[in-house]
Amino acid sequence: MTAPALPDPDPAWLAALEGEALHHALHERVEAAWRLCCEVHPALPRPAVWLDLRGRSAGQAHFGRGGLRFNPVLFDENRRAFLVEVVPHEMAHWLVHHLEDGPRARPHGREWQTVMRRLFGLVPRTTHRFDTRRASPAPYRYRCACREHGFTARRHALARRGSRYRCRHCAQTLVYCGRSAFEKVV
Ligand SMILES: [Zn+2]
Ligand SMILES: [Zn+2]
Repeated sequence: MTAPALPDPDPAWLAALEGEALHHALHERVEAAWRLCCEVHPALPRPAVWLDLRGRSAGQAHFGRGGLRFNPVLFDENRRAFLVEVVPHEMAHWLVHHLEDGPRARPHGREWQTVMRRLFGLVPRTTHRFDTRRASPAPYRYRCACREHGFTARRHALARRGSRYRCRHCAQTLVYCGRSAFEKVV
């Protein structure tokens, strides 16, 4: 395993960033990751960048829109992980997609893993442990026979006080099974 190709961000600098400056740091990192990819694939188009992802997902390569989407709430709370891992993760998807056989490759398959290892010098992980409590509006998990349901804090409080909720699909009463503090996200 080689060392990470992109430099480790200075923790004090990163922690002090606010608002536009914080978003700018993400854009800069995407730019650096893109330049690195261009060394092996000079024709790679520059992806647009949006900080418009909601919920539990950290990032997403959106080929239809032609760019990378990031979750601003999770980024704010997990700055280093975003710069060090999430940006390369999504950029690796972007690069693989633009290789000749890329659109047919599995999302986290051999090609993607090779880019993560060989180009970015990172362990190719597909999950992260982020605190998603603020990013997810419905972090209280309830189960029925057929699926998992997310409850907001308000609805969860009502259920704790005795309100019964049934699943619209299987009609079973929902049972509380814990709060989702950490989720797999990328
Ligand atoms: Zn159900
Ligand atoms: Zn991925």
